Amino acid sequence: MSRRDAALDLLGIERWRLRGALAATLTAPEVATAPMPPVAPVVAPVARAPMAASVSPPPLLADAGEDSWERLAAEVSACTACALHSTRTQPVFGVGNRRAEWLVIGEAPGAEEDRRGEPFVGRAGQLLDAMLKAIGLAREQVFIANVLKSRPPNNRDPRPEEIAACLPFLMRQIALLQPRILLVVGRIAAQSLLGTDEPIGRLRGRVHHFGPTRLPMVVTYHPAYLLRSPLEKRKAWEDLKMARRLHRERAAGATEA
Ligand code: URA
Repeated sequence: MSRRDAALDLLGIERWRLRGALAATLTAPEVATAPMPPVAPVVAPVARAPMAASVSPPPLLADAGEDSWERLAAEVSACTACALHSTRTQPVFGVGNRRAEWLVIGEAPGAEEDRRGEPFVGRAGQLLDAMLKAIGLAREQVFIANVLKSRPPNNRDPRPEEIAACLPFLMRQIALLQPRILLVVGRIAAQSLLGTDEPIGRLRGRVHHFGPTRLPMVVTYHPAYLLRSPLEKRKAWEDLKMARRLHRERAAGATEA
């Protein structure tokens, strides 16, 4: 089975078979090894739409300086900046490799994550793992964090004041990790980070650059949404391939430098 077919199977995307001459053309060795097409146009954050009143701009990305993972985790645990600390079971700091080149950012812990203290461990988490695997990444290779570290009751959307209170923790995680790429899943996380109210359908499918270091960022659909709308998985697959391509380009650039 080809790598592409294996990835489509992982994501639960139905494969269609090419027949005859077209199939021969597309599977010819020179086509299979052809370089990937150029990435989608780069969109600078300054080109974004005016912000909705409910969306706050992200704080500036800081240099980690004297910060440390231990200090940050302790502050997250002790945080009472919003009301969610009184309804959560425990904070969900984030999990993964602290030397990861990929930072995956979701919205907020759900019931299972709140119970286990780890992001993306429910059904959506299983699909996220499959999405990562489809681009050759094990969960252990990436770092996974949410915009909110505490579960909103009944899985309601995070409130602007909760996002504003929690976002600085994510900024510090980014500064500590210094990833090569951000993969942002879902509307809420994308809008919070980009400080926009543009719909996710317009935020996905293109490359964003985040913060003063212009960290490449790819937005895609949230796995929970993809579970409800499996036909959108094809678009998510395009986003994942774009993220993989960007990461490879950055890694190659770093080696050459
Ligand atoms: N959805 C998210 O956005 N994050 C989680 O950790 C779980 C579900």
